[in-house]
Amino acid sequence: MTTTIIGFPRIGEKRELKFATEKYWKHEITQSELLQTARDIRLKHWKLQQQAEIDLIPVGDFSFFDGFLDTFFALNIVPKRFRQLELSTLDEYFALGRGFQDEKRSVKALPMKKWFNTNYHYLVPDWDDHTDVKLVGTKLFDEIKEAKVAGVNNPKAVIIGPYTLLKLSRFSGSKKAPDFLEDVVNAYAEILNKVSELEVGWIQIDEPALCFDVNVEDRQLFNQLYTSLLSQKGQLKVLLQTYFGDIRDVYEDTQKLDFDGIGLDLVATSHNVELIQENGFDDQKVLFAGIINGRNIWRNSYQSSVKTLKSLGVKNVILSSSSSLLHVPFTAASETQLPPDVQQHLAFAVEKLDELHDLNLILEGNGQEVLNKNTALFKNIRHPESEKVRTRVASLTASDYVREPGRNEREKIQKAEFNLPVLPTTTIGSFPQTRDVRQNRAKFRRNEISREEYDQFNKDKIKRIVEFQEDIGLDVLVHGEYERNDMVEYFGEKLDGFVFTKNGWVQSYGTRGVKPPIIWGDVSRNAPITVDASVYAQSLTDKVMKGMLTGPVTIFNWSFPREDIQPKESVTQIALAIQDEVLDLEEHGIKIIQIDEAALREKLPLRKTDWFKEYLDWAIPAFRLVHSSVQPTTQIHTHMCYSEFGDIIQAIDDMDADVISFEASRADLVLIDQLVQAHFETEVGPGVYDIHSPRVPSVEEIQKIIEGFLTKLPIKSLWVNPDCGLKTRGEKETFDSLKNLVEATKRVRSSL
Ligand code: GLN
Ligand code: ZN
Repeated sequence: MTTTIIGFPRIGEKRELKFATEKYWKHEITQSELLQTARDIRLKHWKLQQQAEIDLIPVGDFSFFDGFLDTFFALNIVPKRFRQLELSTLDEYFALGRGFQDEKRSVKALPMKKWFNTNYHYLVPDWDDHTDVKLVGTKLFDEIKEAKVAGVNNPKAVIIGPYTLLKLSRFSGSKKAPDFLEDVVNAYAEILNKVSELEVGWIQIDEPALCFDVNVEDRQLFNQLYTSLLSQKGQLKVLLQTYFGDIRDVYEDTQKLDFDGIGLDLVATSHNVELIQENGFDDQKVLFAGIINGRNIWRNSYQSSVKTLKSLGVKNVILSSSSSLLHVPFTAASETQLPPDVQQHLAFAVEKLDELHDLNLILEGNGQEVLNKNTALFKNIRHPESEKVRTRVASLTASDYVREPGRNEREKIQKAEFNLPVLPTTTIGSFPQTRDVRQNRAKFRRNEISREEYDQFNKDKIKRIVEFQEDIGLDVLVHGEYERNDMVEYFGEKLDGFVFTKNGWVQSYGTRGVKPPIIWGDVSRNAPITVDASVYAQSLTDKVMKGMLTGPVTIFNWSFPREDIQPKESVTQIALAIQDEVLDLEEHGIKIIQIDEAALREKLPLRKTDWFKEYLDWAIPAFRLVHSSVQPTTQIHTHMCYSEFGDIIQAIDDMDADVISFEASRADLVLIDQLVQAHFETEVGPGVYDIHSPRVPSVEEIQKIIEGFLTKLPIKSLWVNPDCGLKTRGEKETFDSLKNLVEATKRVRSSL
């Protein structure tokens, strides 16, 4: 038995890479200083793996921005507009990730998308008919040489594979994926060749896209790619590495093809285990058994891992992580502020290395003591349980998920209640979190100001922003969310059942990270969360003030979940806590309540056939539960960041909100057409401008967009708003944009 991992976090224990990179962008350090930081980080991470006696150490998993970008960048897939900038290699690379701007030139970054069902983002390459695929990059080979010099004698080269590369790319010309097949195979063959020359034993080729649905053409593409590529592998051992799901559509193919190893995720689903048990596993190949969870932060249960591994009946096994450890924080050792009974159950990246070592020991028959200790740990796990919460969940009945009266009736009641003009204008909730807002929060955290001072500052901010919204003539106002650091952490902190790390950063994209809360106990609300702010804001105006909450599915998806209870159980607990807040807001006179579900789409299972039974069947009811018992006069809004819900329109309608706002300014009108076709009933506020850019849209431009929407949608169901929260924007551009939004709406109204 041997051990390995698929990949290690890149940002560094104290996010050194982030800080160095951002300094480099600001010209505060030189390129060679940045490169040195990167070398130091790689060296440290290799040493950590050596100390933990990991046998095959991944090399090539390091990235300055994104591993997918590294792959297509090395293969010369760079649009002309970037080449024309004539930048250094590293600067061109960064330009692809974050755009480029100087006095004379301005080029937009490549689009970003969520990486499978994670909160990590990859860059989407655009292939056109001029794309000339060939190996130009040396990153992988340079890192292998560097590793060897550093004393890593057994590196495993890591790259993202050709199938996943082609499946996640965009083809904007007339040439599509199969037309590039030959060039792609040649380029990868050259990679294999070069890696082989460096006397590396194994290459890990990541093909997570095999865990999506694979149709007949995809399957053919996969087989063609690898039949050809594997015939050129020479002495090099090739590992086909998959993760995030199972490979039921190509399992047989992978057994027949000339791979030396197959890496399977044994944690995300039980399907891979069943595939092996039912079909067997080729004796000539090595199973890279993904048994240590790369997506969650709990200790591994050795007893159950050993049981799973033994049940497979596979001859050659190497122990591995289920995915790259990039999706968990660096080390739990520094989280000393956590109660010891929590801390001992945590395993971040560094601790997972030791777990692999332990498991190996146990399987080789030398780990009885380790096993006993681990078994005892699991016997002693004490998630704080609340009798009250459990009873409340258990006593829910079907009617708790149904809002009465139905939508049509509510619409009439609400039109009379609010008497809003047609095309009501509103925003998504947050206003710019300017420096002073963040400083105020930091001061309060450091105990430099009192609670009263902190609150007073935010109240002044609320007052100012309410006045602004009244002045420019918005119809439905918000309080601005000045009290929130983050839309999930803020609620987590106010709910019982969550714990927080000090340094539990996980890369989200580029140099950006998130610090997901951990669900530890049963979740409940012990005190009002947003009521004071919303009530105060409402007291300042005669217009309607919209209350603002994060929904249960988003809170759940952006936290580290427990593994001892089902997602459905956990999300229902969170839904009841948020329901308490909704009812409290209503009781205190808040008549419109927005419940954001920014991350709802993110966790859709990779396979369509699993969408409902494994996810939507509990996620959508959780949202309904939150608002089902409000009065018919109370209007429920929701917001989703991405507009890519064309394939789950019915499920979104079934959330039974009265209004939904979403991103649409960048998308064309395709989604709107789909909504119309599907007889979508929820009123909609497709964003009329893109808040992700500082650009101020003109009145005419917004007017045109609204008029465009009106050619498709009935006027009675259309709202006018930006496409997301304004938190990350500057004030000046925000104020100008919103003035134009209101003015444009007025012009459309008067032209009716
Ligand atoms: N209400 C939140 C805001 O305005 C929504 C954020 C989001 O969708 N990501 O910031
Ligand atoms: Zn959003």
